[in-house]
Amino acid sequence: MKASQFFIATLKEAPADAEVISHRLMMRAGMIKRLGAGIYNYMPMGLRVIRKVEAIIRQEMNRAGAIELLMPVVQPAELWQETGRFEKMGPELLRVKDRHERDFVIQPTSEEVITDIARQELRSYKQLPKNFYHIQTKFRDERRPRFGVMRGREFTMKDAYSFDRDKEGAARSYDAMFKAYCAIFDRFGLQYRAVAADTGAIGGDLSHEFQVIADTGEDAIVYCPSSDYAANIELAEAVALGAERAPASQPLVRTPTPGRSTCEEVADLLGLPLDRTVKSLVLATDGTNEAGNTKEVTIWLLLLRGDHSLNEVKAGKVDGLKNGFRFATHSEIVDHFGTPPGYLGPIGTRKPVKVVADRTVARMSDFVCGANERDAHYTGVNWGRDLPEPEVVADLRNVVAGDPSPDGKGTLAIQRGIEVGHVFYLGTKYSRAMQANFLDETGKPQPMEMGCYGIGVTRILGAAIEQNHDDRGIIWPAAMAPFEVVICALGYERSAEVRASSERLLEALSGLGVDTILDDRGERPGAMFADWELIGVPLRVVVSERGLKAGTVEIQGRRDTEATVVALEAAVSAIQERRGG
Ligand code: ATP
Ligand code: MG
Repeated sequence: MKASQFFIATLKEAPADAEVISHRLMMRAGMIKRLGAGIYNYMPMGLRVIRKVEAIIRQEMNRAGAIELLMPVVQPAELWQETGRFEKMGPELLRVKDRHERDFVIQPTSEEVITDIARQELRSYKQLPKNFYHIQTKFRDERRPRFGVMRGREFTMKDAYSFDRDKEGAARSYDAMFKAYCAIFDRFGLQYRAVAADTGAIGGDLSHEFQVIADTGEDAIVYCPSSDYAANIELAEAVALGAERAPASQPLVRTPTPGRSTCEEVADLLGLPLDRTVKSLVLATDGTNEAGNTKEVTIWLLLLRGDHSLNEVKAGKVDGLKNGFRFATHSEIVDHFGTPPGYLGPIGTRKPVKVVADRTVARMSDFVCGANERDAHYTGVNWGRDLPEPEVVADLRNVVAGDPSPDGKGTLAIQRGIEVGHVFYLGTKYSRAMQANFLDETGKPQPMEMGCYGIGVTRILGAAIEQNHDDRGIIWPAAMAPFEVVICALGYERSAEVRASSERLLEALSGLGVDTILDDRGERPGAMFADWELIGVPLRVVVSERGLKAGTVEIQGRRDTEATVVALEAAVSAIQERRGG
């Protein structure tokens, strides 16, 4: 490929709305072009990267026994009504009407359509297991599309769906996908972690996110450097801190804390460390009474240590909160506690509330909490003496770095990650909703056990750049680079030797299957080098008149500080060696 026959459109400046480095660099390198919020043209240079990512995914999916098909982007609403998701999904699901006023969706994912295929095509246990996948455009009307292709509204995903006859089979399918994902991300050359994730209502432990490590990642991932424990922050178990609860040593004292409504301010005023304080969070659940219509509100008081933060996913696992909860309103708080937020606590509430203590709070003694009275807190609070033992003790908080690992093998660390893939056991959620049954050996219909497996194809580009760049531009891992090698021909137009040698080199490398571009645009060396450093091609070969006089060319890896001079005849083998092939 010659640059003059390709399309290169680099920019000096990134647009102002590009917040993160990958978005800035993809715009500047001419990989993507914005069409609307979260909607991008994939320009020729960017599309080459996408195609390479897809090719690797396809190879590894096929190797793992998955079968490619292609499901439509526009899907009839009826299928989505069968599972209830047409109504339930909220504004992320783009709904459209055709000329006959029939409802359709622009697919954000394809469980419904694949389950519809499975219930028609997979009738017998003899046809199972099966795993179908496609690489297809998705649309999700994200609340905050941002970071370029990282959180787009239109994006490309590989989604696979497995069908098995039983749980054991589904676990094997899951395992095969887990291994395929490791192979895929290994081949991309990215630094990643597979972390355990929440399975929500389905339960079980078969859900993992594949997270590319990057400081700008939206997700917090928790891991133990001295064991293989890794989970996302939603799931990571927070163990109780402190040994057994110490006996009470202080009297209960009502202490004035005028204007001090946060734990930090109270700790500061009292000269106590923050971990002696307990904060109160008030939730509400709405139920119906026995007549079945009037709303009955239950107020919940969640207690966390002052320096800890609430994990809402964990709160949602507490009995009574499982069907959904909300934060209590100001008037509900005043009504139950007799005081506005800032001075709330479990002692002497005006109306009964359900108290749930975090595991760590349940172990505390002589602690500080609000006195349910404006401008006052209690100090020296002790369970059992000043208030009843907590009715419910649960893991309610986010882990923090330095917490003991739940596997007992060290302490936890936290790093940021970008979710690029997700493997998930679905059970029979969709097959039951849509009657996707197969006949077992006895002829009895059974719902198929399913799993789903997504990879954010376009998000991977952003994630790879977040992890691999410098102040000059992108540094693509070789497997994803739009071109593996660029031949920079200096003086291409003036020098017949440069022309001849660089074209010979292009032919030789292309013949060996090395994805090479020859820059024949006649740009000045500085501008030419800057373009290719920005675009992030891993290897550069400089062919110049001066070099050719000495019978040499220069080879420089994108991360090398200096070029290596090699004989012209040895250039191809030197490049092959650098590629590791
Ligand atoms: P997130 O929590 O980031 O919104 P998700 O849980 O909604 O992700 P899945 O439904 O599991 O994501 O989709 C599978 C994969 O698709 C994700 O792992 C991610 O790589 C990718 N993906 C999801 N949403 C987007 C988006 N808006 N833009 C680009 N890629 C996305
Ligand atoms: Mg999402």
